[in-house]
Amino acid sequence: MTRGGMLMLLQHGTGNFWIDNGLVVLSRLLTNDNLPAPLNPLLQQLLAGDKLPADVNPLLQQLAEQIYQQTGKTEVYWDEQSQQIKTYNKRNWQEPIGLFISVVDSPPKKQVNDKELFTRPPNAASLIRINPRGKTKCDLCGADEVPIESARLYLFPFVVDPGKFGNFYSVAKRGVKLCPRCAVAGFAAFQSWLWRRQGNTYHFFVFHTDLERLSALHESVLSPLRLAEVKGGNFEVDFFGEYPSENLFALLLSLFKFLHARESGGEVSPLLAELTGAQPVVGNPIVVYAFSGEGGKSFSMRAFTQFDRFQLFYRLYRRWIEALSANNPHSVLAQVFRQFQHKRQRTETIWREWVCSAMLKQIDPSPSIEAFLYDVCTEIRRALSYGTLEMLQIYLQEVLKMDEKLLNILKGFGYELGRVAAEKSEMGLLYALRNAKNLDQFLDVLNQIQFTLEKTINPELLRVEPGERIAGAPWNRVKTLLAIHAMNAYLRTKYPASEAQSQEEVSHE
Ligand SMILES: [Zn+2]
Repeated sequence: MTRGGMLMLLQHGTGNFWIDNGLVVLSRLLTNDNLPAPLNPLLQQLLAGDKLPADVNPLLQQLAEQIYQQTGKTEVYWDEQSQQIKTYNKRNWQEPIGLFISVVDSPPKKQVNDKELFTRPPNAASLIRINPRGKTKCDLCGADEVPIESARLYLFPFVVDPGKFGNFYSVAKRGVKLCPRCAVAGFAAFQSWLWRRQGNTYHFFVFHTDLERLSALHESVLSPLRLAEVKGGNFEVDFFGEYPSENLFALLLSLFKFLHARESGGEVSPLLAELTGAQPVVGNPIVVYAFSGEGGKSFSMRAFTQFDRFQLFYRLYRRWIEALSANNPHSVLAQVFRQFQHKRQRTETIWREWVCSAMLKQIDPSPSIEAFLYDVCTEIRRALSYGTLEMLQIYLQEVLKMDEKLLNILKGFGYELGRVAAEKSEMGLLYALRNAKNLDQFLDVLNQIQFTLEKTINPELLRVEPGERIAGAPWNRVKTLLAIHAMNAYLRTKYPASEAQSQEEVSHE
């Protein structure tokens, strides 16, 4: 089937991000040679939104076969026909889709010698089926007067935990009802996501926009990003962890690295140009839905967010890459974010989560970087990795519109402060600076610094304005940035190997 023909079939989007992704998976299935010929007309009818025959189960079975895979282990069963013990290859649901399927096949058993054996190989895929009934309205596409099936997790994974998702799906409290078309698409949609696992925590990412553009997005971006053989997920990331924002941020970095390479190679499709901001968005914005939860026997949803500011963040990414003078600026940037973790009993990544979460919300990440510097860097006796302060300065200028002149004063004065404090072993003063709780305490500490370190304070930093602002910025941001630059310079002076060390780590990437 031609691309044009495929797009013709994709005219009937449902507006539901999950179901639309399933329709894209199904449209790609049309070009798959393994699809049995009789299913083709059924698939075309389904994609075109035409009236479906009563039984869509052959299509569901075919989809189930694709994700019910051999585990590499074998087992034996009793074959009644030949009256012999035979060997079969064990199969299981592909990770992590199996978390959403509780269907188990238990064939009849027979006592053979001292063992109970199945009388045929179990095949859970054959039990995936729907039995739509009645004539009412589909909750997901709005089709009226259609036979309806109650959603199970493997048709629509958001029927769980109505308390949490009741606002998102107002119908979830009474269960979601779906038509056969949405049911098949819903089951197919599991093959559209990007996912990562850290320990027992799973993170899923599903993109959405108008159906035709979603199809183009899968073709030009998501399929190239998706890799079959990556440990703990199906795409490459620079870092990962158990919290939602750090993983979403890692996905964005991978996506931007990909876009930047395409852009530099002059290879930009209209959809890529939309993501980079080179072209205005021509329809509904591109959104990524991110959901996380606990795995185990089944899935327990914990967090659900969405993100759509690709253009703004890609611009920021490009500024970062341009500013980080290195052979491989992306890996320097990746190391900046990777560093915000600390191994005590286990590797804790909460600082990275705070930094990423603040940035995704477009608020100030400085307090989280300050916390990491004072709580972790002082313990491991190492300054922030190369590029961190450059990354922060660009963020503060681009996103929080901070004045470049003030930022440079804070950088210069903070550096001097830390260097002299290190020479005089006055770390306590830096903690006093960090711990200043209000403007008066902050001015007191500056006074003490003037006295103890014999440093003249830049008069700009004493220019207090109405609303407790200093030189146009909130006083506590001025305090935090000064505390960051000072402690970083202190650590660099005391432990000069540390920065060289972290540069070296980057070059080993
Ligand atoms: Zn429907």
